[in-house]
Amino acid sequence: MKYFIKTFGCQMNKSDSERITGFLEKKGYKSAPNMKGADLIVINACSVRQTAIDRIFGLLNNIKKLKKKNPKLKIIITGCVLKSDKRKFEEFLALHRTFSGAGFDEVLTTKEFLGNNYLSILCSSIFVPIMTGCDNFCSYCVVPYARGREISRPMEEVTKEVKNLIKKGYKEIILLGQNVNSYKYGFAKLLKKLNTLPGKFKIYFLTNHPKDVSDELINTIAKSKKVAKEIHLPVQSGDDEILRKMNRGYTVKQYKNLVKKIHRKIPNVKISTDAIVGFPKETKKQFENTIKLFKQIKFDKAYINKYSLRADTAAANLKDNVSWQEKKRRWKILNDIISNKPKLIVILGPTASGKSDLAVKVAKDFNGEIISADSRQVYKEMDIGTGKITQKEMKAIPHHCLDLRSPKSQITVAEYRKKALEAIKQIQKKNKIPILCGGTGFYIQAVIEGSIPEVKPDLKLRKKLEKKTPEQLFKQLKKLDPRRAKEIDSKNRRRLVRALEIVIKSGKPVPPLQFSAQGGPASGWRVLYLGIKKALPELKKSIDKRVDKMVKQGLKEEVETLIRKYGRTTILRNAIGYSEWLNYMKNPPQATHAGGPVKMRKALLSGKLKKQIAGTIKLHSFQFAKRQITWFKRNKQIVWVENYQQAKTLLFSFFF
Ligand code: SAH
Ligand code: SF4
Repeated sequence: MKYFIKTFGCQMNKSDSERITGFLEKKGYKSAPNMKGADLIVINACSVRQTAIDRIFGLLNNIKKLKKKNPKLKIIITGCVLKSDKRKFEEFLALHRTFSGAGFDEVLTTKEFLGNNYLSILCSSIFVPIMTGCDNFCSYCVVPYARGREISRPMEEVTKEVKNLIKKGYKEIILLGQNVNSYKYGFAKLLKKLNTLPGKFKIYFLTNHPKDVSDELINTIAKSKKVAKEIHLPVQSGDDEILRKMNRGYTVKQYKNLVKKIHRKIPNVKISTDAIVGFPKETKKQFENTIKLFKQIKFDKAYINKYSLRADTAAANLKDNVSWQEKKRRWKILNDIISNKPKLIVILGPTASGKSDLAVKVAKDFNGEIISADSRQVYKEMDIGTGKITQKEMKAIPHHCLDLRSPKSQITVAEYRKKALEAIKQIQKKNKIPILCGGTGFYIQAVIEGSIPEVKPDLKLRKKLEKKTPEQLFKQLKKLDPRRAKEIDSKNRRRLVRALEIVIKSGKPVPPLQFSAQGGPASGWRVLYLGIKKALPELKKSIDKRVDKMVKQGLKEEVETLIRKYGRTTILRNAIGYSEWLNYMKNPPQATHAGGPVKMRKALLSGKLKKQIAGTIKLHSFQFAKRQITWFKRNKQIVWVENYQQAKTLLFSFFF
């Protein structure tokens, strides 16, 4: 006869499975390499969360097929099974029973299966249960129902098993109990005793209930050389009200004090924890308290569980009202805090909203460096018209991704992304904070989320496309890539051409990019999006002021120089602040220089025309700003701030 054991759930179940193995082998069973070759399949089940139960039913469906081939196959479901789950299992087994000498399939408790003294079955697992069951009745938990009341193994029995393992050469031994602190014969005493055993080994233990960790226990762990300085101390929630509803028996303050005490008495101790997110009626505010706690206590490890309603438990009477989506979100946030992902700050906003200024302030206060995310500032010599930050304004903060190219050849989003990622990596390596700052939403999104298709520019195709009006291009894009068409700036000819180029050349639409606070390439970072909020009239005023300043600083001369050096490039023709002049300069200025339309040149010098051009730039910039705002609005992760003070508050909670 051959057996196969499938184990679900915690260490305790794994340990029990070892005992089941010992029990069956003693009875003459041999182990089968897989389910197919077995005459007996033992499922060591776990009712603690619904997901495990669902997986078990999936497994049973597969076994059903095996039973058709081997009618003698017998199934035993054991372990930590809740009454209501037991009923469901029994119904399933009865429905698919094969009456063929193999006996009935059964659902048995571990005791029914292995006998009352099953813990005494010796096995060579590194897990040594010192007790089973639980008397705590946390409101969400099935363990007291599924495993029953606490029963402690006599100290002599535990010691004998540990000694046996040491003799066999095991170096790590893990004592198990739902709440080792309530070990009937004294947990501290047990540790002291095991610490005196000869040999080179380390004792670990799970789980300590925070409500009854005694000073004696802390002192014992601190003093016992063979006891690991690692404590698993499930907190479950960082909110007092939720803790009370969970029936945990401690407050956040008591938990924090306990952690402090442990740290004080056991230097270099590692503390890990469990938490449940989305407990019935857990509000966002209450969850934030858990975030706060996780930020205050730097847990070495944490197992985050999404609340799962379990029949028979006290919490089953409360409405499981937090959606699965929201539980997943909360789960991810806590996991991110624990995994300590590198951080990235994004500062965005419409043109002339004061991004660069804010970014420099943030960089100064939080030890950062800035990566520009501006699709015009990547070009050299386009300084005045793009409002590029000056050396003086940088205040010695390093800036990246400015001046990447001459305005002759266009840079693709993929190329920009590569440069930006390089810069970010380099900044993170220095233990500084990368600040991605700019108004080109598509660049920002590409850096954080995107894998942009590496489609090389096709100049011939571009020339053809560039002859069309933005309306025509947009119509074509709508047909070929409707998703991209929805998010693109429909007036931005350059973007439209590029989007079409990608679909036409690659034959595939641009993959969707998604905003996410958990971003990263793709999920390696924790991202804080700060958006600068400005009322439209105020924004209009600052745009006007800025354009006037640009003209005063010599924007016209900048355009002339650029045309003289590079000609009327696509970049210049499509960039606000530049294209407007080009429209008046029907011929390039060098032609003027060589005796071209002198009239134009004279006109350009006239203050009236200059003013007119500036007016058009102001108008275009304002229209563009409004489009930027619309685009940014899609990103629900952005927190909008009006001033540095507001940003600072958010930054503090992001960091600490
Ligand atoms: N005795 C331990 C934990 C045993 S159960 C203690 O006191 O914490 C292991 C973990 O499963 C728990 O810490 C809890 O985080 C999680 N858990 C238990 N019941 C749950 C439920 N109904 N939904 C989601 N997670 C649950
Ligand atoms: Fe479940 Fe609470 Fe007991 Fe842990 S202490 S097993 S969570 S009832």
